[in-house]
Amino acid sequence: MRIDKFLANAGLGSRKEVKQILKKNIVKVNGVVIKDSKVHINPQQDEVTVRGEEVDYKEYIYLMMNKPPGVISATEDPHDETVIDLLELKDTILNPFPVGRLDKDTEGLLLLTNDGQLSHQLLSPKKHVPKTYFAVIKGEVTDQDISEFSNGVILDDGYHTKPGELVILKSGIHSDIELTIMEGKFHQVKRMFEAVGKKVIYLKRMSMGPLALDESLKLGEYRELTDEEIALLK
Ligand code: URA
Repeated sequence: MRIDKFLANAGLGSRKEVKQILKKNIVKVNGVVIKDSKVHINPQQDEVTVRGEEVDYKEYIYLMMNKPPGVISATEDPHDETVIDLLELKDTILNPFPVGRLDKDTEGLLLLTNDGQLSHQLLSPKKHVPKTYFAVIKGEVTDQDISEFSNGVILDDGYHTKPGELVILKSGIHSDIELTIMEGKFHQVKRMFEAVGKKVIYLKRMSMGPLALDESLKLGEYRELTDEEIALLK
């Protein structure tokens, strides 16, 4: 791998910024100063230091975002802001993409990574990864809804969902609920409530598999996953 790519991947800056760093005679590979951005190194074997500090090699990036409403879960969009637009430049270098989609108006836990294998694993219908949502529903949610969800409901396109676990937190003119589903069909939570004649007026994803939303993240904020969190997901 070229040294400029390696340094950029390690978060030291864009390829252009990294070239400037190389010009300063502060980058060493196995103790030898390297100035040429085209030099190839072996990230697994060579020791790269910048001002004497060893540079950690990263191939993958794993981010947890508290997705705000009004933003699209995609890498690009011709009209709207995307979750990638919310990242700092240094976190875009490894080209992370969102793991699955949340609707434009949905908030909460969104993972972003460039690890295609992990993404596939989390999204594969065969893996039955549970996703828990908090929602506010217009009108009263009842024990009858709990029972219907536990058998799966029939969506507008005739699809019979797998069972969903519905917990009523507060029932009234507006009800607070938590729903855990094992699938990720388009607009699934909203359409499951439509199937029982109810409307979702607020939706937030709280968890995906073993990973819960870090509640210290404000809307639009994100952080890298810890090594422990990455290990839990794999
Ligand atoms: N279900 C929905 O209806 N919307 C989402 O964003 C996620 C799940």
